[in-house]
Amino acid sequence: MCKVSIEDIEDEGILEFDFDDDIKELEDCHIKAELDFRAMGDFIEVKGHADGKITLECDRCLNKYSYDLDFDIDETFAKNSLLDEYGSEVELSNDLLYQSVILALPNKKVCGINCNEGLFVSEDDIKPHDTRMDVFKNIQINKK
Ligand SMILES: [Zn+2]
Repeated sequence: MCKVSIEDIEDEGILEFDFDDDIKELEDCHIKAELDFRAMGDFIEVKGHADGKITLECDRCLNKYSYDLDFDIDETFAKNSLLDEYGSEVELSNDLLYQSVILALPNKKVCGINCNEGLFVSEDDIKPHDTRMDVFKNIQINKK
């Protein structure tokens, strides 16, 4: 897999990068992304768009389901902190996309609008107290 190093970005000034690969740290996560890395003095700016798929586990019923990812990337990194943290050979693209995918995930992971939370009961089983009947009771009492 291609990797984007800070040196490459500085040499080119702006580096266009196409990513089409699995994010191996995540389950069944495949991402396609078009990214522009731009050297801006002490900073590296990354802009682009990504879409793909990931397998998530539903918070309610714990079933696995496929989630569509579609998000923009607009990040600025301080070059010094990148070098400190990863060194010059950092795989910027993979790390960046990993972080971005994590941020793009929903707070509440639900497999679908019909998720039954494992507690589904059919309508026949539900016998709610019908408050309309209370009104009839009162009317009958008042007539006496
Ligand atoms: Zn579910």
